Amino acid sequence: MTIYNLGSINADLVYRVPHLPAPGETISTTEISKGLGGKGANMSVAAARAAARVVHIGAVGPDGAWAVDRLMEYGVDTRRIATLPEMTGHAVIAVDDAGENTILLHGGANTALREADLAEALEPSREGDFFLFQNETTCQREAAEIASRQGLRVAYAAAPFDAAAVQAVMPLLDLLVLNSVEGAQLEEATGLAPEALPVRDVVVTLGADGCRWIETDSGTSRHFPAIPVVPVDTTGAGDTFTGYLLAGLDRGLPMAQALVLAQRAAALMVTRHGTADVIPDLKEVQDLRF
Ligand code: AMP
Repeated sequence: MTIYNLGSINADLVYRVPHLPAPGETISTTEISKGLGGKGANMSVAAARAAARVVHIGAVGPDGAWAVDRLMEYGVDTRRIATLPEMTGHAVIAVDDAGENTILLHGGANTALREADLAEALEPSREGDFFLFQNETTCQREAAEIASRQGLRVAYAAAPFDAAAVQAVMPLLDLLVLNSVEGAQLEEATGLAPEALPVRDVVVTLGADGCRWIETDSGTSRHFPAIPVVPVDTTGAGDTFTGYLLAGLDRGLPMAQALVLAQRAAALMVTRHGTADVIPDLKEVQDLRF
C-alpha cells in the first residue's frame, strides 16, 4: 500500500553564536549548517527509511530543489511536491555555547498549498492506503476530507499543537498521535481525556517513558516502555516514531508490533544529533541490541 503524507518541507539553518542576541543586537555567527527538516519531511523520510512506499504532498519555493532531491535520495516519491513562487519554508535556529536556542520559523511555500493540488495528488490513491498529515501546512482539513471520502485510513500527528485544527479534523481521523503535552492541551481545550476522544486509535508518546496506545472502542489502554538508551538529542524523535509507526501499519503489522518498531527507531534517533538526515533505516532498527 502507499502512505500519502501531506507535510512541511523546511531548510533547517543552524547558526552557532557565542550568545543569543538581545533585542537590537547584531551578532556574527561562528558556524552554519543547513539540513532538511520540517515535521512533514521528517515523517516521509522515516516512513521511506522503514521501507514503505511514501508519496510526499507538499511545496517548496524556487530555492528548494535541493530539498526535493534529498527526499528523493531517501526513497520518497516527490512527484507531488509543487514548486511555488514563495520561498521554501525554513527555520533559522541560533544555538549558543550553552546549547540554548531560539528559532524563527517561516512557513513559506508550505503555507501556500492549494486545494486543487491536493485533490490531484490523492487521485491515484486506493482504499486502504494511508493519509498522514501534521500541522505545518495549509489545506489539512480539505485534504483529510478528500482522503476520508476515498476510503484512505487517516492519521494525524497533532504538532505543532493547535486546538482548533485538531477539533476540525477529529471526526475524519482513524489514528491520532500526540505527545503528552499535546494530549494535556487537547484535554484542556475539549474537556476530553484521550480515552474519550472520538478517534478509534489514539497514541500518546511519553518521551523516555515510551508511549500509550488507547483503543477508544473498548476503552483499553496499553503502555509500551521506551527502549533504554542514553539520549543526546531528542529532535526528530517524535517524527521518526510516527513515520515508522505508519510504515509498520501500512505493511500490515498489528498496532502493538508497529509501536515496538516505532519505539526502536525513535530510541536510535535520540542517540544521534540532527533530524531528517540521520533517521535510521529499517536494517539498523531491526539490528538494534539493547
Ligand atoms: P516524544 O515526542 O518525546 O514523546 O518521543 C517520541 C518517542 O521517542 C517516545 O514515544 C519514545 O519511543 C522515543 N523516545 C523519546 N525520548 C526517549 C528517550 N530518552 N529514550 C528512549 N526513547 C525515547
